[in-house]
Amino acid sequence: MSSYTGRFAPSPSGSLHFGSLVAALGSYLRARSQQGKWLVRIEDIDPPREIPGAADDILRTLEQFGLHWDGDILYQSNRLEAYQQQIDNLLADDQAYFCQCTRKQIKEMGGTYDGRCGRLEPPLSSGAIRIRNQSAIASFDDILMGKVTTSTDFAAEDFILKRSDGLYAYQLAVVLDDAFQGITEVVRGADLLEATVRQLSLYQQFGLAEPQWLHLPLASLEPGFKLSKQNHATPVDGNQPQPALQAALTFLGQPQVEWYQDIRLMLEQAVAQFELHRIPGQREILLTN
Ligand code: GLU
Repeated sequence: MSSYTGRFAPSPSGSLHFGSLVAALGSYLRARSQQGKWLVRIEDIDPPREIPGAADDILRTLEQFGLHWDGDILYQSNRLEAYQQQIDNLLADDQAYFCQCTRKQIKEMGGTYDGRCGRLEPPLSSGAIRIRNQSAIASFDDILMGKVTTSTDFAAEDFILKRSDGLYAYQLAVVLDDAFQGITEVVRGADLLEATVRQLSLYQQFGLAEPQWLHLPLASLEPGFKLSKQNHATPVDGNQPQPALQAALTFLGQPQVEWYQDIRLMLEQAVAQFELHRIPGQREILLTN
């Protein structure tokens, strides 16, 4: 095995649909074609958005597609202490602060939080917790998409690490867990392209080694509307995985593979044929159905 470690990190908010299959397959092919490890992490830190049974359903579907992961599954719900520890350290170092601003107030600020609670003396002792964003990274190089740049306002915002309802923010959890799991390259959908600058700011501020980034095109039915669990994208059929696997390969610009009853043989061929430069470097591909 090489030192490459990749991952697929679904949120259990519904079944695996074609868009999430593309992300799973893309990250799997990339990892296996480099003789790397491929890990699966269940991002279950937002209970109100989760559907009971969805995590097991996703894992079963991955298995039906022959997408076997290395090691144990990491559940973010088992990592809450680590997230809190990081927050406590940041608060103690004055690198994070409490904020009680409402959505309405932030709208009045022009939509970007202006850091006002971070200047209060004495500081607040309850509310949401925001990073005192000292890195404000606004651009990075994506292996597929090239140089990505966001607005400086977005990059410099003191964004939320823990919500006032006590839930940890995705940005915090994803960075701590990718670092914890030794992920060397993050392969995921292009909907998270902009979020990457915030994650990079956290890597820098926490003193963690950054992974490489590779964002895949999103599968959309209409421009700007990716297939998602929220818009009830049809689940892929794990009992008959061959057609969806071929479609996902085509979506990723890869050649078709021979049809086998044993899906693992199809995946083996897909790994052997995988060529990164064939994946279209565009954010979105419209599906015609
Ligand atoms: N859990 C996120 C999702 O399902 C993906 C996070 C990531 O890959 O960084 O959209």
